[in-house]
Amino acid sequence: MHELAVTEYVFNLVKKQAEANNVKKVDKIHLLIGDQCDYVPEIIEEYLQVMSENTPLEGVKVDATVKDSTVECKDCGATFTRHEFKDRCPKCASLNLRLNRCTDFIVQSIEAE
Ligand SMILES: [Zn+2]
Repeated sequence: MHELAVTEYVFNLVKKQAEANNVKKVDKIHLLIGDQCDYVPEIIEEYLQVMSENTPLEGVKVDATVKDSTVECKDCGATFTRHEFKDRCPKCASLNLRLNRCTDFIVQSIEAE
């Protein structure tokens, strides 16, 4: 259920933007989510429906793009996506790797009337 906290974050951010720009209705929110974050966009949308009653976000849709998370080699400093390696650094063959967890959760854009 960790989507609730992130949905509150999105809701407050978008609501503030909508108010600042005199937006009457927000149609769609585009999110960029790292694949390690493990957020389910459908659940975020469901929470948003509940939270947004009587706000400009009422009935808002969520459009999510899932981004490959990155792996960093602690020996040579190279970063690459999870799909670019099997079990070792593609550059120096080190096994000393760090998976960057859930660093990406971004509200990319908002569609509004
Ligand atoms: Zn390396």
